[in-house]
Amino acid sequence: MKTIIGLEVHVQLATATKLFCGCSTDYQDDNPNTHCCPTCLGLPGALPCLNKRAVEYGLRVAKALDMKVLEESEFARKNYFYPDLVKAYQITQDDRPLAVEGTIEIEDDQGHEKIVRITRVHLEEDPGRLVHVAGASKYSLVDYNRSGIPLLEIVTEPDMRSPQEARRFLNKLRTILEYLEVFDGDREGGLRVDANISLEGSERVEVKNISSYKGVEKALTFEVTRQRNLLRRGLAVARETRHFMEGRGITTSSRGKEEAHDYRYFPDPDLGPLRVAGWVAGIDLPELPTARRDRFMDQYGVSLNHARTLTGDLRLADFYEEIAGIDPVLAATWVADILLGELNYRAMGIAAVPPGHITELLDLLKAGTITDRAGVQVLREMLDACAEDRPCERPAAIIEREGLSRASGDEFTSLVRAVVAANPQAVEDYRNGKEGALNFLVGQVMKETRGRADPRELRRIVSESIKMGEV
Ligand code: ZN
Ligand code: MN
Repeated sequence: MKTIIGLEVHVQLATATKLFCGCSTDYQDDNPNTHCCPTCLGLPGALPCLNKRAVEYGLRVAKALDMKVLEESEFARKNYFYPDLVKAYQITQDDRPLAVEGTIEIEDDQGHEKIVRITRVHLEEDPGRLVHVAGASKYSLVDYNRSGIPLLEIVTEPDMRSPQEARRFLNKLRTILEYLEVFDGDREGGLRVDANISLEGSERVEVKNISSYKGVEKALTFEVTRQRNLLRRGLAVARETRHFMEGRGITTSSRGKEEAHDYRYFPDPDLGPLRVAGWVAGIDLPELPTARRDRFMDQYGVSLNHARTLTGDLRLADFYEEIAGIDPVLAATWVADILLGELNYRAMGIAAVPPGHITELLDLLKAGTITDRAGVQVLREMLDACAEDRPCERPAAIIEREGLSRASGDEFTSLVRAVVAANPQAVEDYRNGKEGALNFLVGQVMKETRGRADPRELRRIVSESIKMGEV
């Protein structure tokens, strides 16, 4: 059964002020209802005034996604009642959005490139935020700091075929938005997703308001299973809106789906048509993720996978270019395969790592001063210090303090002899052609050397010492 997924993504644009008033968007650390004015509170007589920067950000995205920009678009009122919506209508774009027909390239489940078509992008205002207070008497509070924050809604065609593809689409979209400098990925709730999902031939279900990347994949995976089970039991999938309960990882039926006509859209008489003729041509785009990925392969000779990983995050890509240095492939391997994992493990961002320290570590590895294994140890010590806000010690200092510099083989001759003498069975097995026995013996020696010896060199020494014993 083919899975069919389309997404509607709401992205908060990183403008300094709201979409229709001058209130600051930088409210994250402030008290509720402190970033409000008559306009974003929807008081009678207050008029909206369009934020030019928000339009420019929208156009940047439209251009980057290769979209057709409408020379004249239009703001409309979407009427519905909800306590977080001050005017009982949301100013959005309906018939004539900012732009239509774009594309984003992602990796499909087989690792091939595929195109996800973008139906449209349009500007709209964010509603306020409800805070549900649970207690003896349950009630809700409402915070209008978010009311009027500019959103760009990005709607895709139903081109994704699995929850994993949907996750990759969102990652790619986020990366593009960060490259374009229109979006702050660190901001909580900055990206919210409604997902449409159906199994071929069945009704479509909409899962509303998923507020994390991981949540999207989880919610969709849950839906695939739920819908499959219904069909297997000969039941129909109901066309409905469902709500994702992040904590429990399930979706629950919330209400019958509204149709567009329920909203009674009409052009907002307070805002004239939005004319952008000639504007798009003047917008200069930065190098985008796909172009940068291809350049990394050309310029640095790194693999497709490394190039993808490194350019999948703007700050990471910048960091890599800073340290690529004389051995860009070595640098790519250490950043993509080792550093990233260590950072994730510590919930750290790349910003916490001084590039100079990594350059120094790479130089020491390249010069053979330390083994790869000791290199990992140095990296861990260094990151532990950064994570705890201790001063970030330089690799050379850690190596010195911990005595981690590479030992020459001779230093271990007696150690090897002792291990060989203590494990006659393994020695016998190796003589009888069991390669695994040699690995075991080398492992025993490695344990004692704390990773200071090069494993290949140790292999040679252990193997030779056994052969010498034979003579
Ligand atoms: Zn305001
Ligand atoms: Mn919307």
